[in-house]
Amino acid sequence: MPELPAQPVLRLAIPAPVYGLFDYHPPADVDAAGLCPGIRVEVMFGRSRRVGLLVEVAAASELPVERLRAARRIIDAEPVLPADLLTLLRWAADYYRQPPGEMFWSMLPAGLRRGDAIDAQVPLLALTPAGASQSLDSLRRAPRQAALLAELQQRTPLPIPTLDDAQRRAAGALCARGWASRTSGVPDHAEPAAWPNPAQGPSLTPEQSAAVDRISAGTGFAVHLLHGVTGSGKTEVYMRLMAQQVAAGRQSLVLVPEIGLTPQLIERFRARFGEAVAVLHSGLGDAQRLAAWRDARSGQAAIVVGTRSALFVPLARPGLMILDEEHDASFRQTDGVRYSARDLAVVRARSLGIGLVLGSGTPSLESLKAALEGRYGRVAMPTRVGGGREPALKLVDIDQHAQQHGLSTPLLAAMHRHLAADGQVLLFLNRRGFAPALWCTSCGHIVECHRCDARMTVHQADNRLRCHHCGAERAMPASCSACGAAELAPVGQGTERIEEVLGRLFPGVPGARIDRDTTRRRHTLEAQLEAVRSGEVRILVGTQMLAKGHDFPGITLVGVLDADQGLFSSDFRASERLAQTIVQVAGRCGRGDQPGEVLIQTRFPQHPLLQQLCRDGYAGFATALLAERQAAGWPPFTRLALLRAEAANRQAPRRFLEAARDLATGMGVSGTHVLGPAPAGMERRAGRYRQQLLFQADDHRPLQRLLAQLPGRLSQLTGARDVRWVLDVDPVDLI
Ligand code: ADP
Ligand code: ZN
Repeated sequence: MPELPAQPVLRLAIPAPVYGLFDYHPPADVDAAGLCPGIRVEVMFGRSRRVGLLVEVAAASELPVERLRAARRIIDAEPVLPADLLTLLRWAADYYRQPPGEMFWSMLPAGLRRGDAIDAQVPLLALTPAGASQSLDSLRRAPRQAALLAELQQRTPLPIPTLDDAQRRAAGALCARGWASRTSGVPDHAEPAAWPNPAQGPSLTPEQSAAVDRISAGTGFAVHLLHGVTGSGKTEVYMRLMAQQVAAGRQSLVLVPEIGLTPQLIERFRARFGEAVAVLHSGLGDAQRLAAWRDARSGQAAIVVGTRSALFVPLARPGLMILDEEHDASFRQTDGVRYSARDLAVVRARSLGIGLVLGSGTPSLESLKAALEGRYGRVAMPTRVGGGREPALKLVDIDQHAQQHGLSTPLLAAMHRHLAADGQVLLFLNRRGFAPALWCTSCGHIVECHRCDARMTVHQADNRLRCHHCGAERAMPASCSACGAAELAPVGQGTERIEEVLGRLFPGVPGARIDRDTTRRRHTLEAQLEAVRSGEVRILVGTQMLAKGHDFPGITLVGVLDADQGLFSSDFRASERLAQTIVQVAGRCGRGDQPGEVLIQTRFPQHPLLQQLCRDGYAGFATALLAERQAAGWPPFTRLALLRAEAANRQAPRRFLEAARDLATGMGVSGTHVLGPAPAGMERRAGRYRQQLLFQADDHRPLQRLLAQLPGRLSQLTGARDVRWVLDVDPVDLI
């Protein structure tokens, strides 16, 4: 039989835990040569229907032709993802050793993953001729309708799925008046509306002008580390750079840690750039998300703001990327497909040939090192706008002073002093709940989670015990399960308890608590932040959530209740994080015209890191920490990857990782070391035992050589089926 001529095949990324692309024949009657990478293709995968992404058209498959199946249909006429994102997808899948199909999956809005047409019809709200000539004055008593009519007069039609509930009610009223009507269609983005001119901003300080000039001086790819203390006016610098892009007809992509925590930032962007701002975050419904994604892709949006996954939004005319609070751990995706949005932003900016600004008051050691080596430009803004000084940090030795429920006498005295002088007080404690443990005063037994190596946290308000690691919860027991005595007592402090203590120590002084427990409902955080800003709240207690970019001009005293949590961790990054948190929280005070004071409670006031931080500030601290990392051979001077394995059976993870270690050492890649396996910091979590194996390399090249071979071969090891394993390249948490 004559051999069949080689036919072009489609190489697809298909969401499946497999490290490679899948080859398919094109559907019958479709010429593969005419297909563009970046389109979606529907295939049968095993017995199920899947949506894959065409990554390339290859001349031939390495598999025998007769084993390939034909794709069912081509979904798109045009690529849904542009070339730069395809490059990024391949780069990231390769670097992080993630299945390319899952990586691609994480890039697309939900509807598109299911195979919906990109230009699907949606319900629209259109302006009628009567509405177009209507003056807004006649709606003075219906402000919501007036706002919606004004929006429609600017841009019609509006996709109804993007309207919130109040806007939908207003839409109903406008339709009843005959000023708007419901239709359906494809939101028309063929001709993006002209972007409004940005509103005027304040005139820049000399430091801000210098920063804007430095960053906008060059053309093409460059990374700038903007190290500006809190209150130095970084956001204003971003907006000025964005306005330059708007003037040049180019889009800016801004990534922020958590949009829910920084409603102010979005407000400032909207006030400056109006309707041309598209926002993407996890709180959006599918339709709203898709609408924002389309606005970015079509060029309708001049400014695209989002959390880490917005890095993967296509842009019609990209001009600039900005990552705010670049040190923040939330830029790292830590489950599912693992990647660092910060590192990938550098890759994307390079492939687009555009600038990237990494902004922070407390830059990561990775970025500082790159700046010291000249790979990133460094732009410093060491002073606050309006001349307010950064507050000095002072240590309070809690063993030397009496304390009342975690509040030392010097801190209490300072609180009274600042409150009497009309200041506001912020107390920071990174532990929510009432108390971190419940113990029996009769036998010493401590109540633990049944599924984790961890204590249960007491939540007094609803009388429950909760595990903060696996989410398990139960009713507060009346007596000790070990000895039966009814003498259980909460030990230690959480934010809930501090709030209660403050009520007793400062009766009549209005307080508020901000943590995940008090802000679960939508809009409560915004309301609380507003109450702090307006001065109504005098004492604020809260967790990590307070460290994120809020502007509270009236706060004059910050108390860090327990600095010791980060001092002796086995994770080498703990001290970097501790310093960042302290400096960020401290930055909340003294932003108005009052000087600020920061008291840090510790049991170890002689600790060299704390001493250095108080003496030399973050920059001096970071320089010392870099030297320490270099001496110890930790990142950013070396590269790490962590292979984690877990199973319900205690032995299985260890056995698997021992086999993995033998495999890795057997490959003999020079410049790499394999350490472990060792139990994870918390060996048992949610009923599963966890072990880890660490790969360390002098540089990313040897590490990549080692990892290139690994994932495929790991799945073939005996014992691989008994565990769940993941590979974490450049891990942020080592425990
Ligand atoms: P950062 O982001 O560095 O913490 P912001 O950009 O939030 O700082 O600026 C801090 C405060 O100073 C904000 O209230 C901002 O409106 C104000 N501000 C910033 N730049 C200027 C300026 N050039 N003139 C007047 N006020 C400014
Ligand atoms: Zn648990």
